[in-house]
Amino acid sequence: MQQCECGKKAVYFQKHSGQKLCKRCFLDSIEKKVRKTISKHKMFQENNRIAFALSGGKDSVTLLHILHGIEEKFHNTEMIAVTIDEGIVDYREDATAIAKENTNQLGIEHVIGSFHDVFGASLDQIIEKADSLKEKRLAACTYCGVLRRKAINIVSRNLNADIIVTAHNLDDIAQTILINLIRGDIWRLGRDLKSSKMIDSRMIPRVKPAREIPEKELTLYAYYRGLNYHGGSCPYSIEALRGDIRNFLNLMEVKRPGTLFTLLKTSEKISKALQLQSSQPIILGSCEYCAEPTQRQMCKACELLGNIDLLNENKSV
Ligand code: SF4
Ligand SMILES: [Zn+2]
Ligand SMILES: [Zn+2]
Repeated sequence: MQQCECGKKAVYFQKHSGQKLCKRCFLDSIEKKVRKTISKHKMFQENNRIAFALSGGKDSVTLLHILHGIEEKFHNTEMIAVTIDEGIVDYREDATAIAKENTNQLGIEHVIGSFHDVFGASLDQIIEKADSLKEKRLAACTYCGVLRRKAINIVSRNLNADIIVTAHNLDDIAQTILINLIRGDIWRLGRDLKSSKMIDSRMIPRVKPAREIPEKELTLYAYYRGLNYHGGSCPYSIEALRGDIRNFLNLMEVKRPGTLFTLLKTSEKISKALQLQSSQPIILGSCEYCAEPTQRQMCKACELLGNIDLLNENKSV
């Protein structure tokens, strides 16, 4: 590998920008990309109270450290890390401990919410119940994704957060685009950006400042900065459609570099086109069971739990 523009020895070739970068310039390029994405999509305002969704895994730990550096310059913003404990034995405990280590190191307040507190059952218990009732149950990730989304909204709202930050990277976003296309879920494609016309003060808007950073670059950033993250994988991950899509996209990215970025840009165009088409804001109603915001009569989380006789009797969630 040749030299970086600054004269030092290059250690990384950034295919999408065509640049050869030394370690310092590589780290700077990632931080600059995050700052640019935040400002391009106007993700934060100066006095925002930010709830940062921290799993303890590589992506969220890395983005937490990057944002901590950026946030220090915004004196009126405040960041609280929120970890949702789904209740997955032999997996979540270690990740939560590492999340705590990182927040202690950075001096960031850390709040832990759990499926058990919000829904009255852990993910392991939900899967056990579904297994006992159904010959072929839904994938664990379907329960997990729907319930985690609802739980983080409730916990962040209780903390008076203005915005939720998630650490989804370019690979995650590209995978989600394909999953939504395969499922024919146009509505989800359209609501990707914060500029969505969904107006409801009970729903805290979400932003993804790492949306333009490939996963391998976040891994390299974590490595160069010596960050401590949880590297274990969830025992249910084998069930996920996402795994197949990930393998497919990785292959495409090797054969046709730029595929992930192209998918991201396409989804932004689709998102904008869909929002232009509907001039009316989306007004949400309330779930007839839990009273949380939803476009349906019953929210998806209550429907999933109801189908396996696990609707929590406590409606105050
Ligand atoms: S792999 Fe699936 S079940 Fe495991 S944490 Fe991720 S979404 Fe949840
Ligand atoms: Zn350099
Ligand atoms: Zn509900």
